[in-house]
Amino acid sequence: MANKRDYYEVLGLQKGASDDEIKKAYRSLAKKYHPDLNKEPGAEEKFKEINEAYETLSDPQKRSRYDQYGFDDPTAGFGGAQAGGFGGFGGGGFGGFEDIINSFFGGGGRRSSNAPHQGADVEKQMNITFEEAVFGCTKRIRVSVEDDCIQCGGTGAASKSDIKTCPKCNGRGRVIMRQQTIFGYTNVEAACPDCGGKGKIIGKKCPECNGKGRVRINKEVDVNIPAGILSGMSIRVPGAGEAGFNGGPNGDLYLKIFAADHPQFKRDGQDIYLEIPLSFSQAALGDNIEVPTIDGNVSVKIPAGTQPGTKLRLRGRGTKNPKGGSSRGDQYIICNVVIPTNLSKEESDLISQLAQCEKKEKKSPWEKFKSLFK
Ligand SMILES: [Zn+2]
Ligand SMILES: [Zn+2]
Repeated sequence: MANKRDYYEVLGLQKGASDDEIKKAYRSLAKKYHPDLNKEPGAEEKFKEINEAYETLSDPQKRSRYDQYGFDDPTAGFGGAQAGGFGGFGGGGFGGFEDIINSFFGGGGRRSSNAPHQGADVEKQMNITFEEAVFGCTKRIRVSVEDDCIQCGGTGAASKSDIKTCPKCNGRGRVIMRQQTIFGYTNVEAACPDCGGKGKIIGKKCPECNGKGRVRINKEVDVNIPAGILSGMSIRVPGAGEAGFNGGPNGDLYLKIFAADHPQFKRDGQDIYLEIPLSFSQAALGDNIEVPTIDGNVSVKIPAGTQPGTKLRLRGRGTKNPKGGSSRGDQYIICNVVIPTNLSKEESDLISQLAQCEKKEKKSPWEKFKSLFK
């Protein structure tokens, strides 16, 4: 980039200028060189230079660094400007420059409504079963979206001869309008009010879309719901939203999933929890049992002396990660020990025998506990 002029020099100021002086100088220069007002060659370059100077000098932090280091700030910022960065001024191209103008002149951006742009995103919700969430599924859903009208090809006209060039803007879609801005009255370019920026006017309207060029349709979309999805997660289906404009891309569909709970299996991320009831004898003596998992029954060894609340892990029996990969979570078995009620005579006799043994050997938990107080 060519040698940069000193920012104070650009605004015609001395180094110690006050904030007010900077603002005043900027306003009058920006007005003088604004490209919509000044068609002389070089005005646009001047305008960029003025804006860049103002951006730095109006910001106390940037200004103090500039005062200290000039364009050679070792910490950041200005070096980038010389390399073409600086928020789109330097080499940022016309797009960045326009944005700056628009921010000063109250909008009226030059994006014509003829330009391609993306259709709107669509949001939907869907309820699925526990199993569908755990194993994944494909669902066909109906989405109501705006699409181009087939009958008129999106033009909104009843026939080709009903499409005419707008006389107000001569088909440009933009007109120069007088508008009040922070710099006083100025001329800005805006969308043509007669044709809405399209540059064309429709005679007889298409009866199907009533001249809009777009109609609401019900679109069927197949959505792939990944295994392991959790309630509240959203799936993005690219391009399944509303149709784009003027050849722009479609919007996306965001499908929010609500998965039903299972009466026994509880999910925590990729892990699954299952509470099982064990009898006193199973817990005391141990057992081999068939425990339900999402894959069906799995043999599990309950160790002798299992305490209530014991957590046993079945590795890899949880769900897949909905974000991908083949690894699975685990299933945890929470052991509940159920104390029997309504004992039969035989059961009652057996437990009484157990109680006698405990007393004789002073082995009951209660005896052990009481010995702590002696
Ligand atoms: Zn027009
Ligand atoms: Zn139509």
